[in-house]
Amino acid sequence: MKATNKIKRIRGYALIMIFAGMIIMYMGVFFVQIPWLFAIFIILGIIPLILSVVIYFWVGIVSTRTLVVQCPNCEKHTKILGRVDYCIHCNEPLTIDKELEGQVFSRDFNVKHRREKILEEIEQNKKQAED
Ligand SMILES: [Zn+2]
Repeated sequence: MKATNKIKRIRGYALIMIFAGMIIMYMGVFFVQIPWLFAIFIILGIIPLILSVVIYFWVGIVSTRTLVVQCPNCEKHTKILGRVDYCIHCNEPLTIDKELEGQVFSRDFNVKHRREKILEEIEQNKKQAED
């Protein structure tokens, strides 16, 4: 999937699951004469529906922890989830870490040990430049 804002992406997955659940349940209608098969389709359809409800609920909780910033590119307000995220409007990569500013954007920044490794490398490069 294309790189977009995390909250937007998670909501997208939840929406796909709702459709998947409805399609599965709809297919069960063709087997309405075979009760056990019909039941399987209904159950299989309910699972993604429940999951999507859980995801929506979780997004709601997570949204309260996001940081609202003004995007330097499109100047609209956007929500950042994690250390780095994309602008919800224009997909501009954004970071809340000053050290990571100007670095080549990578999703590795969201993983603590990888981010620390990158920061270490930046630090070493700086030292080498001074020598
Ligand atoms: Zn933007």
